[in-house]
This record gives sequence, C-alpha cells and structure tokens, in this order.
Amino acid sequence: MLKIKNLSKHFGGLRAIKSCSFDLKPNSITALIGPNGSGKSTIFNLISGALQADAGQILLDSQNITRFSPEDISNAGISRLFQESKLFTSLTVQENLLLALDNQDTKFWKNLFGKNQVTLDQTNRINYILKLLEMPEKAHQKASNLSYGQQRLVAIARAVLNPHQLLMLDEPLSGVNLQLRNQISKLLLKLKKQSATILLIEHDMSFALRLADQIIVLDAGEVIAIGSPKQIQSDPRVIKAYLGNELC
Ligand code: ADP
Ligand code: MG
Repeated sequence: MLKIKNLSKHFGGLRAIKSCSFDLKPNSITALIGPNGSGKSTIFNLISGALQADAGQILLDSQNITRFSPEDISNAGISRLFQESKLFTSLTVQENLLLALDNQDTKFWKNLFGKNQVTLDQTNRINYILKLLEMPEKAHQKASNLSYGQQRLVAIARAVLNPHQLLMLDEPLSGVNLQLRNQISKLLLKLKKQSATILLIEHDMSFALRLADQIIVLDAGEVIAIGSPKQIQSDPRVIKAYLGNELC
C-alpha cells in the first residue's frame, strides 16, 4: 500500500520532518498523532503533493509518487480531506458531492445546466453515503443551510466519493459535536469493513485509540513510535515524550 521511506522536509532553518519512515497496511485505519507542530499536516502535504520533499520516497503500491503533482497523486488513487476543507455553499449537498464523482469539471457544469443527466449510478452512490452519514434528507439542501458539523460530514463524504485506494483525513472530528463524531466513527469503521485503507490525523486521543489499527506517533518531526493502540499506550518513549501533556 503506502510506503514512506526516510522522508525529510525543512522550512528555512526548521527541520519539520526528519527522515520519517512508515508503512500502511491495506484495509486498515492508521492514526497519525503528535503534539501541535510535530509535523502531522506537513506529512499529509508531502504525501498529497501540496509540498515537495527534500529527500526520501513516497511509494503507492510500489509506484514512486514522490515527485508527482497533486493532480497526478489524486489520479494515482489518494483522496484527501483538508483540515480546512470548504464546500461550495451556494450549491446543494448533492451538487457538492457530484463534484467529487466527476473529475472533469466541465462535465459537472454541464450537469448543473441540464445538458447532461445526472446518472442513476451517481445518484445512488450519493444517496448511499448520505444514508451512512444519517443525513439522507439533506441531499437537496443548500450547503450554506447546514451546521458546521454537517458541512464537515459532507466534506468527508466528498473525500470518500472521490475515487481512491487511500483516504487521508486531516482532523475529521475537529469542531464537531459528540453525536457527529460518533457518526463519523461509524462511517470510517463501515468503510474499513468494505476494505478501505484510511490514514487520519486525530487530535482526540481516545477516538484515535478506539478506531485505529495502527498508531504512528510524531514528535518534533520524528516518528518516535509505531504500533497498535495497546503498544503505543505502554511505549516508554511515548510516555516520556508526553508525560504531563495530553496526547493529541
Ligand atoms: P502539525 O500538523 O503536527 O500541528 P505542521 O505539520 O503543521 O504540524 O507543522 C510542523 C512545523 O512546520 C511547525 O513548526 C510549523 O510551524 C512548520 N510549518 C508548517 N508548514 C509550514 C510552511 N508552509 N512554512 C513554514 N513553516 C511551516
Ligand atoms: Mg495540523
């Protein structure tokens, strides 16, 4: 699946990522955790091509994608939810989700202006995911009428619908209430059952421990531990790094 080898990135004098290596197993959920500023989003930016690595390699099913553009990485099969993913608020939920299903924007706009029919398959896929998120009645509502948490769910749905083999979610639970958190958790577990591979950054430690099969702990740009939730909780390096601090 995804293999990261000795990845490094600096910003001026700051070594944000220091020779990080890790593997993702297919059909599993991996959580990337670490204090603020430890390099989690930078790793996501490197994998998705928003930033270029100084050194190291990123392999997706043994294809070297290290120097690929964000578009080529998306086409290679990586779909990403950004920490600040925004919807098109003047469009409906369904229209926002159609945008994810249709990689060619021109086709999408034709759909909107009625020159093409939205296919039954597309509608079915959108309805299916809205049902999983327990919001089937929202399909025709304008995104601007949804609460922040519901908009977040639609942004996650968009990343899920975008064809992919690896789904990357940067803090999918940030700013959403407990009920929506549980809905997102259920969705991710359901996707895993359907053989999805998910890499997520999570602030909420208890959520990460409950949901993930594998946890990668970053500290000051270095991977300090990799293992199951149980192994991580009892790892002396992790305990030492976080002593007195809340894990995030
Ligand atoms: P996290 O997501 O774990 O909170 P980040 O990956 O956002 O951490 O940041 C890691 C470090 O790199 C931080 O010190 C941050 O200030 C710095 N950093 C991140 N992106 C940039 C950038 N584009 N330019 C300069 N410094 C950056
Ligand atoms: Mg971040």
